[in-house]
Amino acid sequence: MNVSDSELVMKILEDNGFKIVDHIDRADVIIFNTCTVRQHAEDRALGRITNEMSRKKDNKDLKIGIIGCVAQRLGKNLLQNKGIDFIVGTDQYLNLPEIITGVIENSRSLCNTRINNNEIYAGLYPAHQGEFSAYVTIMRGCNNFCSYCIVPYTRGSERSRRAEDIFRELRRAGERGFKDITLLGQNVNSYNYKKLDFPLLLKETNKIDSINRIRFVTSHPKDLSDRLIDIMAKSEKVCEHIHLPMQSGDNEILRVMNRGYTAEHYLGLVKKLRKAMPEIAITTDIIAGFPGETEQQFLNTYKMMKEIEFDYAFTFKFSPRNGTKASEFDNQVPEILRLDRLQKLIKLQQQITHKKYQQQIGKIKEIYVEKVSKKNIHEISGKSRDFKITVFPGSEDLIGKFVRVKITDAVGWTLKGKLLDHYPG
Ligand code: SAH
Ligand code: SF4
Repeated sequence: MNVSDSELVMKILEDNGFKIVDHIDRADVIIFNTCTVRQHAEDRALGRITNEMSRKKDNKDLKIGIIGCVAQRLGKNLLQNKGIDFIVGTDQYLNLPEIITGVIENSRSLCNTRINNNEIYAGLYPAHQGEFSAYVTIMRGCNNFCSYCIVPYTRGSERSRRAEDIFRELRRAGERGFKDITLLGQNVNSYNYKKLDFPLLLKETNKIDSINRIRFVTSHPKDLSDRLIDIMAKSEKVCEHIHLPMQSGDNEILRVMNRGYTAEHYLGLVKKLRKAMPEIAITTDIIAGFPGETEQQFLNTYKMMKEIEFDYAFTFKFSPRNGTKASEFDNQVPEILRLDRLQKLIKLQQQITHKKYQQQIGKIKEIYVEKVSKKNIHEISGKSRDFKITVFPGSEDLIGKFVRVKITDAVGWTLKGKLLDHYPG
């Protein structure tokens, strides 16, 4: 989401006469786009900003600004850090050119973090920065208020982007060589624009000639309908890959998290997805040490992970975010226990991922070639439809093409293979 927002901000600035430079050393204005979903993300962002602030000693005219969720959360408080020139929240990017000009002309700090629940940045088409894959934002904000999560506070209410803007951006991206598209939103399943819901949006996206692969994040389990699963299975460009955050495998914890589903419901979705698309890769997010989580409740999550066997799991230890309900609960799990549980989950998932990757040996997969391998110039690498990095001997000419590869080995998180053939064009 932040990559996509940075692309949006670059577009706004370029449209207003600013030039994006390719190295921080050449910048007159530095903008940090920040994440505050966990304290660790915020600390890293602020650490980096503090480091770069020393540039002001050598360049008195340099301006430094912060945008994104840390800007939204801390607002004016960030101006206490000497040297920060502007703070701009997630709904105020259209005002950035004016704010930066004001800061340069008057040399005084500015802060604008007003939430605007109608802002969808209509009619703007970000310049995608990747080489082969592009993120396309379909909605902004979130209404779910999971009790641990800061997002609804920093990004405001859920709003869907105009379908015509999305389709135009998708077509342009495909024509410019971005063949692998990821549709983005905090909960894409609740996309709704003039009666066009997410399953229909997927169906229409599938008809766009210039793109070959479609992915989406994030799908909320409470809103993943049978109809959506059916359309996923029937749409040939929709990849066999879904990120479906489970968060916990314990019903009481899921209830207090305000997730709106049970472990049984989640398990049912996994079964339906695998039945409809036997090759589907399922990845997830898990939080360890949510307030009040007992050893037994943690074990329920552990058992669910073992039973489901995700292809990959992003595991996090609970991080209290000021302003969220869960940060105020009086039964916080001690940090050391959160860490211990997190490590157990990481270890378990490593074993599962290893097993899953070994199971790929012998399969034939379609790979979208992205680059020459870093480790061996005679090898090239790319991603499979189920999002697995695959490396195989081959020439540079194949970069940007779709090829078929037979998997011969699995090393760590990488599949190794042998090139079979490639598609024309
Ligand atoms: N909208 C997405 C997730 C956005 S945040 C969804 O609903 O799935 C990405 C992930 O960060 C979440 O899935 C959750 O696992 C994790 N996360 C969010 N807030 C957190 C917190 N306070 N502590 C630890 N992990 C958190
Ligand atoms: Fe946060 Fe829940 Fe919204 Fe995801 S769905 S962004 S976890 S509040």
